[in-house]
Amino acid sequence: AKKLGRNQYSFYTQDMQYVAHRRSEQKRELRNALINEELEIHYQPVVDMNTGTVTKAEALIRWRHRTMGIVSPEEFIPLAEETGLIHEIGSWVFMECLEQALKWRARFHPDFQISVNLSPVQFKNSIYFDRWFTLLASAANSHNCLCVEITEGVLLDASEKTAAQLWRFREAGMEMAIDDFGTGYSSLAYIKHVDVDYLKIDRTFIANIATDAADYPLVEAIIMMAHKLGLKVVAEGVETEAQLTLLARIGCDYIQGYWYSKPLPKPAFEAWLQAHEAK
Ligand code: C2E
Ligand code: CA
Ligand code: CA
Ligand code: CA
Repeated sequence: AKKLGRNQYSFYTQDMQYVAHRRSEQKRELRNALINEELEIHYQPVVDMNTGTVTKAEALIRWRHRTMGIVSPEEFIPLAEETGLIHEIGSWVFMECLEQALKWRARFHPDFQISVNLSPVQFKNSIYFDRWFTLLASAANSHNCLCVEITEGVLLDASEKTAAQLWRFREAGMEMAIDDFGTGYSSLAYIKHVDVDYLKIDRTFIANIATDAADYPLVEAIIMMAHKLGLKVVAEGVETEAQLTLLARIGCDYIQGYWYSKPLPKPAFEAWLQAHEAK
């Protein structure tokens, strides 16, 4: 038993070493990811429950490295935040999405909108935001072509400065969504101070909505509350027809999840959209 214990320990340290090594390699390589054009954006459709149409998509970043393969944003966004590279990367995502949303407005639907995830760290250096606002102001047909997704955390340490910045997003003609709702403090008290448009219910609540007796009334209550406050609700991570049926019954406004589609590279997303429209 003693020997086994020691072996387990050495496997454990090997794992730790591997993780530490991979992290430092990624940190180093991430610096060149933009220059080497290794970052790409995938788009996941968001389906309007009232009309069945798709005029929204969420932009989700991917890193395709020549030796490491595809690195998940769950893995490299924290590194980008630590190193400060999140500002450059986030700006790149913003520019790409602005261009893409305008193209899809012209091609598919005049109200097409892309949601962009913002890291709380990006609020610490608003120089980039100023550039975005200037760009948006100079683009025709750009009103509400983008929606920024922020987490509850951003709203909670809502300093005056953050609140002011959020106002500027709205003034610049963007919508706002609260991402991962329910995983943080789940108090909607902050809604009084900021003007958000959408609430995205985290997929951990959606996962058990058809099987866990407690999650269904919880989601129902969140949707009722959001509607009373004038917010539209997006359910994240919808994977089954049973989940979809329940969400439709309780008046959820938008559905996002593998049931409809995984996030797709641009050409595949366009093909998906065309096939969906033809239905
Ligand atoms: P998120 O904003 O909560 O994005 C939703 C995540 O759920 C995505 O993971 C998406 O692929 C996944 N998802 C969608 N539908 C389903 C489903 O039906 N089942 C399951 N199991 N998962 C589903 P992804 O793409 O790996 O992104 C992870 C996180 O990385 C995002 O979570 C977001 O916080 C962050 N992220 C992604 N792109 C960006 C970006 O451009 N900027 C920043 N700051 N963060 C990003
Ligand atoms: Ca999101
Ligand atoms: Ca989310
Ligand atoms: Ca998240």
